[in-house]
Amino acid sequence: MPLLQDLQAQLNELDEQHLLRQRRTVDQVRGAHYKTDGQNLLGFCSNDYLGLATHPAVVQALQEGAAKYGAGSGASHLISGHSRAHAALEEQLAAWMSPCIDQARALYFCTGYMANLAVITALSGKDAAVFSEELNHASIIDAVRLSRAETSIFRHGDLTQLEQQLQACTRHKKLVVTDSVFSMDGNIADIPALLRLCEQYDAWLVVDDAHGFGVLGEHGRGVLEHFSLRSPNLIYMGTLGKAAGVGGAFVAAHETVIEWLIQKARPYIYTTAAAPALAHALQTSIALISGDEGQQRRQHLRQLIRMFSNGLNLRDWTLLSSQTAIQPVVIGENAAMLQAADTLRKQGYWVGAIRPPTVPVGTARLRVTLTAAHQIADVHMLVQAMNRMNQMAYIAQCFAEVA
Ligand SMILES: *Cc1c(COP(=O)(O)O)cnc(C)c1O
Repeated sequence: MPLLQDLQAQLNELDEQHLLRQRRTVDQVRGAHYKTDGQNLLGFCSNDYLGLATHPAVVQALQEGAAKYGAGSGASHLISGHSRAHAALEEQLAAWMSPCIDQARALYFCTGYMANLAVITALSGKDAAVFSEELNHASIIDAVRLSRAETSIFRHGDLTQLEQQLQACTRHKKLVVTDSVFSMDGNIADIPALLRLCEQYDAWLVVDDAHGFGVLGEHGRGVLEHFSLRSPNLIYMGTLGKAAGVGGAFVAAHETVIEWLIQKARPYIYTTAAAPALAHALQTSIALISGDEGQQRRQHLRQLIRMFSNGLNLRDWTLLSSQTAIQPVVIGENAAMLQAADTLRKQGYWVGAIRPPTVPVGTARLRVTLTAAHQIADVHMLVQAMNRMNQMAYIAQCFAEVA
């Protein structure tokens, strides 16, 4: 069949460019330790930044939630799928985020991808203008396309360009969208400066804090707390499958914004509500994040981040400058990066292998993510292994040049 042949030819092409992705099946997880395909691996590629995904209290709450509400919600939120667990979680999140947002209300979504689609499409439309940072997550890119708004992409961190775009814009409805922590680079956006521009030009600022929520800020409220920000222009999106260790996402904003999303956001309205048990477990997870245990876990994580970035000693490869748990080592070519990831895996370390189109061509990277579930010794061993491997690659290359 020609249609199948066509697909197969394209798959073969991906394979030749070392761009064919493979899934690894996990049989068991505890903290950062994975059993996968008969091998035990120490994982450095999860976004479970605080180690809450396997926390006994969170797991127990999930079981309790299932016993109370069943395995699934059975319907969308606006029909009969909105449970007491969803409502209580939203109230807890709104109260907790209230230092950063006036008259805060929160809305729980099945995933962060859907939350971005919901916010960006519902608050824009054909008559609106959307300004999107160049390195934004794929879900934001898709949301902007779906919005049918007039779209401007501003270069990474280039607020001068954004200001020019805002100045030139004649549309009344304006939406600036940015990741807080860039997911493949680990650096933090200048949210205070972005917010000043949005206030000046009367635009919404949508902040996707997927990698900041739970981790940044003294109490783990994320990037808004990290920068001590509060503004009616802010619309905050935090995901709950990363640091919160469970799944889903939430939007926190002024109550009027949230009411608008409930009425108009199609990715909220036309989907079955997430299992109430998840919302039940998340309440335990948020309590841990906001309490002493969360604080201790964040402190431990910060120590590991410093250890890792100070310990690496690389030639040719580049550790990107990042203060967050995302520590990318850029190698360049896909094949060389895959070989490095493979060498680490043979030694028992599992690191993220990131290739185009997720990152620009020629910047394939090992994306190391650290979590509070790691021990100091774990990070020390990984640093040694990476330094050793880099040294060998460098020597091999020198020999190749001489020969
Ligand atoms: C993970 C991620 C999302 C998507 O969240 P999910 O809950 O996994 O769908 C959105 N934005 C960014 C920046 C992310 O890293």
